[in-house]
Amino acid sequence: MWRAIREREPPDASQLNLVRYASTPAKEREGALADLRVATIGGAETILEEATVQSLRATLHGPLLCPGDAGYDEARKVWNGMIDRRPALIARCAGVADVIAAVKFARTQQVLVSVRGGGHNAPGNAVCQGGLMIDLAGMRGVRVDPVRRTARAEGGATWADFDRETQVFGLATTGGSVSDTGIAGLTLGGGLGWLAGKHGLSCDNLRSIDVVTADGTMLIANADENADLFWGLRGGGGNFGVATSFEFQLHPVGPMLAGMVLYPFSKARQALTLYREFATSIPDEVNTIGGLLTSADGDPVVAIVVCCHASLEGAEERLRAIRIFGPPVADSIGPMPYRQVQTLLDAAAVRGRRNYIKTNMMQSISDGAIDTLVERFATIPSPYSFVFFQQLGNAANRIASATTAFSHRDALCEWGCQSSWLDPAADGVNIRWTRELSEAMSPFATGNDYVNQLGLETEEGSERIKAAFGVNHERLVA
Ligand SMILES: Cc1cc2nc3c(=O)[nH]c(=O)nc-3n(C[C@H](O)[C@H](O)[C@H](O)COP(=O)(O)OP(=O)(O)OC[C@H]3O[C@@H](n4cnc5c(N)ncnc54)[C@H](O)[C@@H]3O)c2cc1C
Repeated sequence: MWRAIREREPPDASQLNLVRYASTPAKEREGALADLRVATIGGAETILEEATVQSLRATLHGPLLCPGDAGYDEARKVWNGMIDRRPALIARCAGVADVIAAVKFARTQQVLVSVRGGGHNAPGNAVCQGGLMIDLAGMRGVRVDPVRRTARAEGGATWADFDRETQVFGLATTGGSVSDTGIAGLTLGGGLGWLAGKHGLSCDNLRSIDVVTADGTMLIANADENADLFWGLRGGGGNFGVATSFEFQLHPVGPMLAGMVLYPFSKARQALTLYREFATSIPDEVNTIGGLLTSADGDPVVAIVVCCHASLEGAEERLRAIRIFGPPVADSIGPMPYRQVQTLLDAAAVRGRRNYIKTNMMQSISDGAIDTLVERFATIPSPYSFVFFQQLGNAANRIASATTAFSHRDALCEWGCQSSWLDPAADGVNIRWTRELSEAMSPFATGNDYVNQLGLETEEGSERIKAAFGVNHERLVA
């Protein structure tokens, strides 16, 4: 039900000004009755009386923003600069009580809802057009228990927030590879990251979640309480409610050997073949992302990024194969703190650029996949775009597909194309190029998307969305 609420596009997405406030000067608004036009769960529109909106405002501890209010435009911005949706209301929640109030309001008034965690999702699922956006950006607290090696983080925290607190104690858990990604969206969909070879996905490290379900009830979900819900929250995405806080298991994680090696594009096939061999033979302590990108000098290059959290002497040996191949154009591998590892790819994912992403899971990297990527990359329309393989990690693979709702346990990696550009006039060419690449790569992939990278139902179609949940779809629906 939640997904139905979240994914529904407005009846007419081009109708940007759904709210009367937007065209009403502030002075006129004061004291005057200004009703609010909102999108409903059913896809229609309804009018909310000013008094109804005011009652929600009075209940919330955090601000309730409408179009025209200071902070409204900033609050509706997400990582992908292409997303320009205008919620009728943004509830900037200050705590669980605000989330409960917002959910109950939406349910009573039948208002379309979206939930914003870190706001990093490429299709912009966090922002609805014309409805109520439940915004957790103000709920970013993280509390570490260094003795039990656990951390509890609020639903709006990013991995940068999380790692900052946990690393003070030399602890960490598997998080995303770009530091301003939200812990919420990433973990609910699975969570691929540098530590997954040793410790599994982010969702595998979850001990407990607090969730406000669609009827406004706060439930605790863990192995003992609401275990079925807990199962669904580990890979089922944001379909079951608003997750207000997450408790993770932490692990000792010290400085590690990590960095990026670049090879000339003329050796692209050999270097990606090396990546394949490396990815399929590494120990649990290593995880890797490989791909094709345009260097700062404007040259196409092959990049292999690695992270090895074995003891540093042992690590040198484990990474030798990729450092002696070449010679590389550049080799930035060296000892570094984990928080630095967690920002290695930040420069490739700058907030606010226009982005379009296609990905799919792969059980192996075939010669055909490598050839296709190399051939197509030669015509990539933007220097900010790149194609990649992101390995799941050995420990993530060892867990059975039915253990959590994340269903891609047999995949070696996710392949993907992150197309990024600046000029809105270039939207068409970049999106077309990415879709054509995705089509060309389909014979080499499983056909199952990673839930966290899926587009809207209007783009993907219901069959593709179903496939993303794989063998677990039926149980999730139930
Ligand atoms: C550049 C880039 C790098 C990425 N790297 C990785 C990676 O290394 N590993 C990986 O696994 N994924 C990665 N992703 C995918 C990432 O996991 C998703 O984009 C994820 O949705 C981001 O979570 P968020 O909280 O920031 O998203 P948001 O945009 O806030 O939300 C995304 C979805 O999750 C739901 N949601 C968010 N918060 C909550 C909540 N508190 N309760 C209930 N539902 C909620 C939203 O409603 C929405 O449907 C990457 C994405 C990008 C764009």
